[in-house]
Amino acid sequence: MLRIQNEPDIIAAIRLVCQPVSGINSALHRAVYLDSVHTLSQLLPDQGVEVAIAGRSNAGKSSLINRMCRQNALARTSRTPGRTRQLVFFRLDESRHLVDLPGYGYAKVSGDLKKHWHGLIQAYLDQRESLVGLVVVMDIRHPMKAQDIELIEWAGQRGLGLHLVLTKADKLGRGKQKEQLIKVRKMVHEVVGVQTFSATSGQGLDELYSIMGNWFTASAG
Ligand code: GDP
Repeated sequence: MLRIQNEPDIIAAIRLVCQPVSGINSALHRAVYLDSVHTLSQLLPDQGVEVAIAGRSNAGKSSLINRMCRQNALARTSRTPGRTRQLVFFRLDESRHLVDLPGYGYAKVSGDLKKHWHGLIQAYLDQRESLVGLVVVMDIRHPMKAQDIELIEWAGQRGLGLHLVLTKADKLGRGKQKEQLIKVRKMVHEVVGVQTFSATSGQGLDELYSIMGNWFTASAG
């Protein structure tokens, strides 16, 4: 534990707390909207490094992106679930992108649209060379629905980096959070990273930054 004894210690402690966030954190904080695409032919050139974020409608994906990038309105939180149908690209710098995949699992979406989602996402996950990792965001109270599992399997088949985030953790007590975490870890045979998160409290941010840092930097060279 840091024990503050005198003035130089206080100054050192303030510096420690206020030091600029380094590496991937600051790159994420500078993220800007770049483009939205409906079809694979509209995709940006397949260069650099991309990390994609997916999740059921209303799971909390946009809130996670906004919290992680420290910007309130970078990703649009959905007032109408199921509305966003595009892949939305955010630029961290000239070679690194974050990709917000369209939410799935919204019951009122037509069969055609569901097919479109399937085709688009599966092809993107299969073919995109610059894609190094996929974050699957799930409401901690309702994880591992059929489409989440399907997505996890696609990513696994391709050998993509995979990380599961159980968000809205603030809605459960600590004991129940742990229970859900253990349950999901067992479902993925403990070979895929799983964490709890809360966009409201910031719980789990460091773990998420660490994954982002690994993916974006390990593949940058
Ligand atoms: P998306 O459809 O997956 O992008 O989900 P949103 O980010 O739009 O979130 C859906 C709803 O859940 C919104 O009302 C959010 O305010 C709420 N929400 C998202 N994340 C959290 C969280 O960590 N804690 C709580 N309590 N609510 C959240």
